[in-house]
Amino acid sequence: MRLANRVGALTPSSTLAITAKAKELKSQGLDIIGLGAGEPDFNTPANIIEAAYKSMKDGMTKYTPSGGLPELKQAVIHKLKRDQGLTYENSQIIIGNGAKHVLYTLFQVLLNEGDEVIIPTPYWVSYPEQVKLAGGQPVYVEGNEDKDFKITPAQLEETITEKTKAIIINSPSNPTGMLYSKEELAALGEVCLRNNILIVSDEIYEKLVYAENKHVSIAQLSPELKAITIVINGVSKSHSMTGWRIGYAAGDKEIIGAMTDLASHSTSNPTTTSQFGALEAYDGPQEAVEEMRQAFEERLNIIFEKLISIPGVTCKKPQGAFYLYPNVKKAAQYAGYDDVDQFVEGLLEEALVAVIPGSGFGTPDNIRLSYATSLDLLEEAVKRISTFVTNKM
Ligand code: PLP
Repeated sequence: MRLANRVGALTPSSTLAITAKAKELKSQGLDIIGLGAGEPDFNTPANIIEAAYKSMKDGMTKYTPSGGLPELKQAVIHKLKRDQGLTYENSQIIIGNGAKHVLYTLFQVLLNEGDEVIIPTPYWVSYPEQVKLAGGQPVYVEGNEDKDFKITPAQLEETITEKTKAIIINSPSNPTGMLYSKEELAALGEVCLRNNILIVSDEIYEKLVYAENKHVSIAQLSPELKAITIVINGVSKSHSMTGWRIGYAAGDKEIIGAMTDLASHSTSNPTTTSQFGALEAYDGPQEAVEEMRQAFEERLNIIFEKLISIPGVTCKKPQGAFYLYPNVKKAAQYAGYDDVDQFVEGLLEEALVAVIPGSGFGTPDNIRLSYATSLDLLEEAVKRISTFVTNKM
């Protein structure tokens, strides 16, 4: 065996596996509609592309400090002040290669062997793997579907042990689109403070919030909560910049310092050109962010009603992000499947619609559909799913 023990337990990303299969079928000429995407379908706003291009022409094509360009850190500090009323210093910010890698670096510097990290289900697929890669132990708390997939303070309290180091809060959530209210966050935060555990607040979908809902960062609620929270965010979802790979963490100076030291030996720095793009994303005009949000909301409102009219499909209406997370256990049974994973395979092979099975997110009765695609395709996909279920009833 040549591979290290640490990769033995590594599960490949379920979201990427189904996407790969869908691509393969597409290359065989099949008319597949992919609803697996975890990225906005809009192009990056032109002013951001221009700013990045200009930086290259101006010769800014060399290494930057490991923790990121000082100007970009300042732009992130302004953003956190403007949007959340939060105050940070330069030493409390690290820019990294996407929020995903920032989280990876964070767990590497936080966790000792056997340290526990509480992960509410359903969860984003990379959290448990990143915790395990850092020697930590993921501990799951069920976000019950009846409670909008959100965990309660009592559940959190019960799950904390002396080995608990941190909890991950992802609001709005991938895959459910659910959003914790200020009151709910305050109640969870109180348990964290009392038990002396850190909060990793993944706010990557902050800008994608619908109807009258408002995004709140748990770090905003009190200086005490701010002190134990590491805010994670980035430009991927807000500014349609997934391929640029820029994210950040804001929090305790000692933690950010350790992350920066680790980055100096792993990535050296996030891509310089991308950092100049992100600088324009945060400091430049923000209209495009709102336009994209509105487009997502319009699609959500249309497609949600159609989705819940499919027999055997129930769905909580998401408040944010760009995913629907219906329970399809009954629909799968109507279509002749006991198991939702097999239903998903059938959907892909027979109805030519690619969705992500909920098993990868810790809730096997659900599927995740992304509405980061055109309304025409979404409507056609829902029609196909409906026919697939009702034809066999
Ligand atoms: N966190 C969540 C919940 C996500 O869904 C994603 C991307 O899918 C990320 C973090 C990572 O974003 P990025 O690495 O592109 O900044």
